[in-house]
This record gives sequence, C-alpha cells and structure tokens, in this order.
Amino acid sequence: AAPALYCVFGNPIAHSKSPLIHAAFAQQTGEVIAYERRLAPLDGFALAARSFAAEGGRGANVTVPFKLDACALATELTPRAKAAGAVNTLRFEADAIVGDNTDGAGLVADIVRNAGVALAGKRILLLGAGGAARGVVLPLLEQGPQEIVIANRTVATAITLVTQFADAVKHDGQLQACGFEQAQGSFDVIINATSASLAGDLPPVPASVFGPQTLALDMMYGAQPTVFMDFAASHGAQVRDGLGMLVEQAAEAFYVWRGVRPQTQQLLAELRAQLDTAA
Ligand code: NDP
Repeated sequence: AAPALYCVFGNPIAHSKSPLIHAAFAQQTGEVIAYERRLAPLDGFALAARSFAAEGGRGANVTVPFKLDACALATELTPRAKAAGAVNTLRFEADAIVGDNTDGAGLVADIVRNAGVALAGKRILLLGAGGAARGVVLPLLEQGPQEIVIANRTVATAITLVTQFADAVKHDGQLQACGFEQAQGSFDVIINATSASLAGDLPPVPASVFGPQTLALDMMYGAQPTVFMDFAASHGAQVRDGLGMLVEQAAEAFYVWRGVRPQTQQLLAELRAQLDTAA
C-alpha cells in the first residue's frame, strides 16, 4: 500500500527535527508513513494545509508561527486543544479537520516518565504566559499538583490565564499568578515556557525558588544549556531542556494518527548525542 502521508508546517521549517523523529517512530512500529517538511507562507497557512489534505495528507504537525491559524482552521477541537487555544496536531478526515494539541501531554510525559518526577501534590512554577505556557496548564493541573504559580513579565497576561482555567481548578489557590520577582518559596518543578532563552535572557526569578530537589526544565533545546538552565544548576537544581518534550509531543501525535504508541528512550538518547556532537 502507498504510505500514509503526513507533514510538519512551519516558517521557517528547514531545521525541524520532526521528519527524523517520525521516520524513526515509523521504522520502530512498522507503520508505513511518509513525513515531510512543508514551508507555508506567513499569510497562507490555511491554503497550504487544505492543499496538503487534497493531495491525500492524513495529518500534520504545526509549529511556529501557525498554531493559532491551525486552531482557526480546525472544524473540531479536542478538549486539550480547546483549552490550549492552539493546535500542534491536525487530522484530516473525510468531513472534518480535527485539531489537537500534544505539547502539554509531551511535557508531562517527559517530566513524569523520563525525569521520573511525579507531579501530584507538588509545587510547580510556570514561567511565561504565552502559547506554550497556556498549552501545558490543563495537562499539568490533571496531574493533581498542590499549586501551579504562573509567573510572567506582563502579570496581567498571567492573571488572564488563571481566570481562563478557573473551572479546571480542584482546590482554592491551586492556580495563581504573579510577576517573576514575586515567586515565593522553593518549588519542586520550574518550567521555563518564556521565549527569553532565545534572546539569551533570564526571567528574573529569585534564587530562592530553587532547592536541592528542584527540577528546572527549559522548553528550549540546543547544543548548549540555556542561561536559565545554567542559573538553575548554579543554585543546585536538576536541569533539563526541551528535547524530551519535543520527542514526547511527537510520540503523542504519532499515537493520535496511528493508534500506536512508539518508544522514545532510544531516540531521545540518539538526538541528544547528535546535539552534543554538533556542539
Ligand atoms: P509566545 O510568544 O506566545 O510567548 C512568549 C512568552 O515569553 C511570554 O510569556 C513573554 O512575556 C515571555 N517573554 C518573551 N521574552 C521575554 C524576556 N526577554 N524576558 C522574560 N519573558 C519574556 O511564545 P511561545 O509561548 O509560543 O513559546 C515560548 C518558548 O517555548 C519558545 O522558546 C518555544 O520554542 C518553546 N516551545 C518548545 C516546545 C518543545 O516541544 N520543546 C513546544 C512549544 C514551545 P510577555 O507576556 O510579558 O510578553
């Protein structure tokens, strides 16, 4: 049979690791798929996605800057995509375009399974209130943490997020908002979902947020640790970048499309080794 066709849309897209990741999943699971990169014009996502579906495309991943466009294009949204207000995974069906979001599930899988840190009853500090932060709030809440504090440069945006997720909160004070400098006490898990690392910036959180048991995760990844990871490590935290999240969100998308859950450990180790070699 002809391979089932998938792609990743982005702009830029040349450096996306998704084709490599999904090819590895397909080989491992025996699923017969083809997966390619598609550069969509900045003002032409919907047309590009519809053309891909017309060519027989069965699904697509969506990355920067099209996650909101993908959400608008979808005729149906999964609950987690609706909560995120953004779509990173599309399924093209005969009479529907289903929008899903696997970023939050990917983050939770990386923290819980790969890093071995359970989130129930824990204090979580989420830095940032943009698309990436919003996408992970619901999956994090579902783990039953004692508290999630959303800290953002623009505090009003963090407060808006807290309001939007009020219905998903299980007890008073489970979801809170503040500025970076106002984060109080030490946290079990700190997630940097700001884009500050891209510019080499550090969200100005007090050093006291880090304790010896803290897991500090930056959603960014690359050959070098980010300034946030260096700062967290210098205060005794265990650190992690966003590579595991990337691989896990892809595994979840593969599961959404194919109904088969790939193993991620070996691929993650291989990608890590490739990054280290490039460094
Ligand atoms: P957005 O543009 O939607 O949000 C940016 C956020 O970062 C806002 O909260 C903004 O604060 C904050 N911010 C930007 N610059 C600074 C700075 N210099 N200092 C402090 N805060 C700053 O971006 P996204 O949420 O889409 O993406 C955030 C990051 O997450 C990116 O680096 C992206 O690559 C990464 N990501 C990784 C994934 C993975 O699989 N590993 C998946 C998804 C995202 P303000 O509101 O004040 O402007």
